[in-house]
Amino acid sequence: MVVNPKTFMIPEILKDKCTGCGICEEACPGKCIAVGSDDIAVIEEFYCENCGICAEVCPEKAAVLPWHSWQQWNKA
Ligand code: SF4
Ligand code: SF4
Repeated sequence: MVVNPKTFMIPEILKDKCTGCGICEEACPGKCIAVGSDDIAVIEEFYCENCGICAEVCPEKAAVLPWHSWQQWNKA
């Protein structure tokens, strides 16, 4: 299986945790995450720079970084 590293590192928004506060939207340097009409943040994956800032600033820990898991797998 071929994995696109860029796509693989895009954070995931956990819908059951996101409150739609918009803090990630303000902080994102790529302006590629925005709160939708359902009050849940959505990432426009094509423009994501994989910086992880959304995960750092999210007070609900609703934006999670899959590459942490990837690093753990590599250590195993
Ligand atoms: S900062 Fe977290 S809780 Fe707030 S809109 Fe972004 S993902 Fe949702
Ligand atoms: S990882 Fe960075 S560029 Fe991608 S959505 Fe989060 S803050 Fe924006």
